[in-house]
Amino acid sequence: MSDAIPLPVSNLDNHDFWDGCRHHELRLQRCDACGTVRHHPRPACPQCASFDYGWVRASGRGTLYTFTIVHGPTLPAFQSRTPYNVAVVQLDEGPFMVSTIVGCRAEELRIGMPVEVVFEDVDETLSLPRFKPVA
Ligand SMILES: [Zn+2]
Repeated sequence: MSDAIPLPVSNLDNHDFWDGCRHHELRLQRCDACGTVRHHPRPACPQCASFDYGWVRASGRGTLYTFTIVHGPTLPAFQSRTPYNVAVVQLDEGPFMVSTIVGCRAEELRIGMPVEVVFEDVDETLSLPRFKPVA
């Protein structure tokens, strides 16, 4: 079994999201019919089922909605990273995003703490959105 970290794959629905991350912009889909902003990227609006949408640049700010600390056992690719956090951030625009909080110790994580996006450049084609506490 490979020890390589599994990385996201760009597709027709999420290409603009990952392209935004590569440019250190957090982009969200917004329904043209009803205005609902959504994440994760998908072809139709979960509120009104419209297939018409555009992209908006998110503020990058949100709050830590919940989190867990992974101690393992976990997939081999992640074992060397334990313990690490898996966080659900509620963006100021409304949608939730699963990510990781960086820039603080596990003991400092608090539900409701304000966070903002930062980007981890994996290589020249992929950057991952992470979040850090707002000072
Ligand atoms: Zn809609």
